[in-house]
Amino acid sequence: MRYSGLKILTEGLFGNRGWKPVWREPDPKAEYDVVIIGGGGHGLSTAYYLAKNHGITNVAVLEKGYLGGGNVGRNTTIVRANYFLPGNQEFYSHSLKLWEKLEGELNYNVMHSQRGLINLFHSDGQRDAFARRGNAMINQGDDAILLDREGVRRLLPYLDFDQTRFPIYGGLHHPRGGSARHDAVAWGYARGADQRGIDLIQNCEVTGIDIENGKVRGVRTTRGAIRAKKVAIVVAGRSSQVAAMAGMRLPIESHVLQAFVTEGLKPVIDHVISFGMGHFYISQSDKGGLVFGGDLDFYASYAARGNLPMVEHVMEAGMTLMPMIGKAKVLRSWGGIMDMSPDGSPIIDRTPTEGLYLNCGWNYGGFKAVPASGWCLAHLIATGESHEVARRFRLNRFATGHLLDEEGTGSQHNLH
Ligand SMILES: Cc1cc2nc3c(=O)[nH]c(=O)nc-3n(C[C@H](O)[C@H](O)[C@H](O)COP(=O)(O)OP(=O)(O)OC[C@H]3O[C@@H](n4cnc5c(N)ncnc54)[C@H](O)[C@@H]3O)c2cc1C
Repeated sequence: MRYSGLKILTEGLFGNRGWKPVWREPDPKAEYDVVIIGGGGHGLSTAYYLAKNHGITNVAVLEKGYLGGGNVGRNTTIVRANYFLPGNQEFYSHSLKLWEKLEGELNYNVMHSQRGLINLFHSDGQRDAFARRGNAMINQGDDAILLDREGVRRLLPYLDFDQTRFPIYGGLHHPRGGSARHDAVAWGYARGADQRGIDLIQNCEVTGIDIENGKVRGVRTTRGAIRAKKVAIVVAGRSSQVAAMAGMRLPIESHVLQAFVTEGLKPVIDHVISFGMGHFYISQSDKGGLVFGGDLDFYASYAARGNLPMVEHVMEAGMTLMPMIGKAKVLRSWGGIMDMSPDGSPIIDRTPTEGLYLNCGWNYGGFKAVPASGWCLAHLIATGESHEVARRFRLNRFATGHLLDEEGTGSQHNLH
């Protein structure tokens, strides 16, 4: 079924009886060419691009819960291409270009909104760092505008420009940055993969990975054993646990990240804003809720909920930046399990086991990466070669010392 404005109109006139389920609910087959473990954004986009770009359709995505129930449906939806280091730059630039045509391609409204992202800076040193970053973005072919204090005031007049503790010196404006509706991205890719014949199997937890003579043979699941020529581990916060099933110890720690949303308000914030001194970022959803978040909870955990000290920290940062936020009522908060890598950059690579692939280390920035991550992992699985924009995302870089330390915080998982 193709979605269109006309379709909505006619369905509305005839009682909405013609809508079909968006994907099938197939039982798992005994064998697939490729099994993808994890039905989050990255697993689903990988399945979609395997079919679309490489014609590989004998594929199953195995999801232990429901599609989109993990981080892809829990994030704060910022989409941007404002990275500084070669290796990250070209990857996120590629991803943003895929975002820009995603809705047309998937025939699905993922509510991608390029409303502009503004990273605030609060000292001369931070201004220099953002000027360098902006130049790197422009050299990569993306967009960046360095704003002075008055430039920020013109766009974001409601910020507190008078406070003396963290004065606003200016901001780096990335007009093509913005947001999207997180779970719609999972649903859109799921629909596209299903339409191309890929089996999306929900409530199917992988409990073991079968390996013989150094080669992957398949997986064991709560719905029986499934043979596979190739298996990809794409489980974000659960990466260490699933990789352990293949005897691997990953350089990944799992940490909680919280997010918050307020009651619906009239349109007030028409950009995505990132506070340079308090690790606080905010945007407004199309429903009107202010969506915001901050730092990790700073302890490793598999609980998809956080703790009160970080709630207090995030609220304080919000109040410091824009005291008007104190009038909004927080409606709900939640947490997600982040797959933190030592250098804050991801891994898209083969593993020492033949036919077993790994996609993880997305930290708190993997939502914007969903299109390019699937594109590049599908390329690796189909061709055996790393895609040119993902060639630095190697698993062995932590052994060889070729870190991609974008934030310059060193090899500390919880500092990235
Ligand atoms: C609060 C919060 C805010 C964030 N904000 C942003 C942001 O603004 N911008 C941005 O770019 N990124 C953001 N992120 C990060 C982003 O959401 C993640 O990096 C990304 O979603 C991770 O990839 P995924 O979508 O594939 O993960 P997930 O959606 O978590 O998918 C992994 C799936 O694997 C499944 N799984 C696990 N174990 C098994 C098993 N044994 N068998 C079968 N299935 C299994 C899980 O159930 C899950 O559905 C944020 C994350 C959080 C939590």
